[in-house]
Amino acid sequence: MLILMTQGASREQIDQVCRRIREAGLTPHEIPGSIRTAIGITGNRGPISAELFTKLPGVSECMPVSKPYKLVSREVKPESTIIDVRGAKVGGDSPVLMAGPCSVETRDQTLKTAEAVVAGGAKFFRGGAFKPRTSPYAFRGLKQEGLKILEEVKRTFDLRIVTEVMDIETMDAVAEVADVLQIGARNMQNFSLLEAAGRQRKPVLLKRGMSATIQELFMAAEYLLSLDNYAVMLCERGIRTFETMTRNTFDLSAVVMMKHYSHLPVIADPSHGVGIDWAVPPLAKAALVAGADGVIIEVHPDPDRALSDGQQSLNFEEFAALAADLKDLADWRASRAK
Ligand code: PEP
Ligand code: MN
Repeated sequence: MLILMTQGASREQIDQVCRRIREAGLTPHEIPGSIRTAIGITGNRGPISAELFTKLPGVSECMPVSKPYKLVSREVKPESTIIDVRGAKVGGDSPVLMAGPCSVETRDQTLKTAEAVVAGGAKFFRGGAFKPRTSPYAFRGLKQEGLKILEEVKRTFDLRIVTEVMDIETMDAVAEVADVLQIGARNMQNFSLLEAAGRQRKPVLLKRGMSATIQELFMAAEYLLSLDNYAVMLCERGIRTFETMTRNTFDLSAVVMMKHYSHLPVIADPSHGVGIDWAVPPLAKAALVAGADGVIIEVHPDPDRALSDGQQSLNFEEFAALAADLKDLADWRASRAK
């Protein structure tokens, strides 16, 4: 259920409603809006009686929420969420560019890539120190050493770090460096990891599982929001289908659906989505036209020698060309938003 407060509802009135919700054994979630405050209620097993709240001062309306995902939905929060990551806004009028190598391999490779990423106008640097790999024999990241290199990138450039956290054991160490905690496709439904990430009070980039429906992604995000961490970016990174010509099937329709049904920012990852370097730029551009709040792109100084995902990584020249096109599209979006 969603309780809509009147426009001028006071702090005390909001607190009183929250108290009443707790007394009923339920959890209130205060959702401030530009016009009025709404209070979402979770924790109920069956329907909630609106009578408990309708008579309280400052309450305008009690509405049932029809979707199984509650706090993620636009029913509960019609306004798009804007996440401020150290001054860079995700979810507003200008789409963001996130870029960097799949893996942090060496200090030199990482710093060189960071320079190219800054030159392309990106405000976010991606790079994994802890890498989930299909084969246990593949390069699985520099781990702590990789975090140190990311820390240097953060200190040296005006870049916010997006890096994957794979387990609860390394959560604190990763969160110390990360501005945005990435939860990978393989961990989208690792519910204890989601709860641990929710408690970090850090923005989270939640990647869609490779065989997850959009609703399952929403429900995974709900774990984070139900812990009052609203700083969640949903990421479309391609799904498994019968198609074999591409690594995954980049689901652009999911970008449109997510923007429609959820207020959370949506980031598109065409690199993993298609898995082929030359196919990344057109899909990145298509994602911005479709309404994504940003794209995340893999870049490497020498993709042929990359220790992971070289086949889908852009070299610096290709990245610079894409970044220029994305900038034009961002300007076009901004002109339409006026
Ligand atoms: C990555 O971002 O390099 C990665 C492993 O992504 P995903 O979890 O989407 O496979
Ligand atoms: Mn990768």
